[in-house]
Amino acid sequence: MIPLTDLKAQYQQIKPRVDEAILRAVASTQFVLGPEVASFEERFAAYCNVSHCRAVNSGTSALHLALLAAGVGPGDEVITVSMTFVATTAAILYSGAKPVFVDIDPVTWTINPANIEAAITLRTRAIMPVHLHGLMADMDPIMAIAERHGLVVIEDAAQAHGAAYKGRAAGSIGDLGCFSFYPGKNLGAYGEGGAVVTNRADFARKVSLLRDWGQETKYNHVVPGYNYRMDGIQGAVLNIKMDYIEEWTEARRAVAARYDDLLAKLPFVRPQPPAHCRHVYHVYAIALSHRNETLRRLQEAGIGAAIHYPVPVHLQKAYATLGYRVGDLPLTEALAHQFLSLPVYAELAPEDVVEVVTQLEKIAFADAA
Ligand SMILES: *Cc1c(COP(=O)(O)O)cnc(C)c1O
Repeated sequence: MIPLTDLKAQYQQIKPRVDEAILRAVASTQFVLGPEVASFEERFAAYCNVSHCRAVNSGTSALHLALLAAGVGPGDEVITVSMTFVATTAAILYSGAKPVFVDIDPVTWTINPANIEAAITLRTRAIMPVHLHGLMADMDPIMAIAERHGLVVIEDAAQAHGAAYKGRAAGSIGDLGCFSFYPGKNLGAYGEGGAVVTNRADFARKVSLLRDWGQETKYNHVVPGYNYRMDGIQGAVLNIKMDYIEEWTEARRAVAARYDDLLAKLPFVRPQPPAHCRHVYHVYAIALSHRNETLRRLQEAGIGAAIHYPVPVHLQKAYATLGYRVGDLPLTEALAHQFLSLPVYAELAPEDVVEVVTQLEKIAFADAA
């Protein structure tokens, strides 16, 4: 059995240190925010090459507060993609704004900048690109469009810790960047977690206020806020993991490179990161026809393949009121039927990568033989 991801293998590697850190956090009784979270914020800001990081209780909360800090609210429109986890859309709706979906680029599978301008209206306030699977969206044209139209750019970097575009870190190019530390993400807490990063001191201050009930000082509530604070224990765990994130990211990239080599002779669409991007492979997805049948048979063969995401957000029942229909986003819809995510994690052995591709080849070409 080769799982899609393996959180236990990673835990075994860091067990003594992380166990000690958790016990220390408990003994300190700094259960909410506190010194471990503050020190993590400092390290994560440095990692993203930005001046401010504010830790919150999930990636969704990070997106919500980034939107509010940037002044996005009712009556506004935010341009984003439907090929993402629902949280991107949900956060826009939490802010009171309306998500406006545009189709993705056929090669990078991230927002296609060529589709953005046609979607801009008098109500557009922000663009929220999603760095899907760990590959950054094409930020230069996105920032140029934003500047021309006076829009805010908020990066959904929930899948892209350590990713880069032309040498610039994920989260550092837009006005704000949002990360998730959900356990399965490339940098995962032992529970929920998230962060907003930014170079704008005023935005960071707003996020600080909003995550903690709008309190400037205790019981002095200057804006209506939320309970979105990060746990002290999560700060302690993330501080330990910061020592390994680069090593783990390089290991993921090595797994991806092995897939690239082995799949080169097969007729599947593979990830094609532009040379100026550092892809961090939160997901290693290929695109193929007969996807559902292939997935079923891979799982029967003990390969933990999966689909990210089988139904795009604009066709989910929950968001039917947004008024989208089948056919509105042709590339997004086509890829939702073709994407297949293969196992990828730092500890995945080279022979297991070979096994995944061997099984995949066997299954995909069984009928042709
Ligand atoms: C995981 C994820 C989120 C949400 O993060 P949570 O920490 O689960 O709230 C948002 N956007 C994308 C693209 C994600 O993958």
